[in-house]
Amino acid sequence: MDFGDIIGNEEIKRYLSNCIQKNNISQSYLFVGTEGIGKLLIAKAFAKKILCLEQEKKSNCQCKSCGCFLGGNHPDYFVVNENGETIKIEQIREITSKVIEAPIISNRKVYIINDCDKMTVEAQNCLLKTLEEPPEFAVMILISANENTILNTIKSRCMTIKFGPISKEELRKYAMDKLGYARNVRKFIRFIGWKHWKSNSSKRKTRAIFAS
Ligand SMILES: [Zn+2]
Repeated sequence: MDFGDIIGNEEIKRYLSNCIQKNNISQSYLFVGTEGIGKLLIAKAFAKKILCLEQEKKSNCQCKSCGCFLGGNHPDYFVVNENGETIKIEQIREITSKVIEAPIISNRKVYIINDCDKMTVEAQNCLLKTLEEPPEFAVMILISANENTILNTIKSRCMTIKFGPISKEELRKYAMDKLGYARNVRKFIRFIGWKHWKSNSSKRKTRAIFAS
């Protein structure tokens, strides 16, 4: 899973790649944009690259970090998801209590908080303490489709990156170049994901691609 495998948001991927190349990585990011446009995928690819031990490799890296990442057992990588519609303070405490512990195999630790707008106010305030004084090796990536419920104090600590919709041309080019089955609607829907397909605008957009 590398940036090159992900469709759309080219400018953002370029920007994040540059951050890594120049070793100019912020300690906290907020990825915002509607659901199903690749925020989590890009966050994961970014995390993998941040943690990679052989930064010069463009793709298919075989280093220990990338191996662990793809195996789903990287000790310096953590993802928090909603648990029963909200992200509770206990879930945030679990990560913030260990955030100061040094990374095990990589030079940094990466935390993704998916659907971060679902954090309770208590959870957000708990996270805020870490965002205010993070250990230098920690990178937090907060992901949200609805930034309105995120405290301003959290937002002000993060580098906000706004994701745009995937253009028709990007979808078509990706399907043709990488998959070679732009005419196979079922496979294509499976590729872009049911969630993405379900939203009407995406459905219309995809239909338009195959109709054109
Ligand atoms: Zn690697």
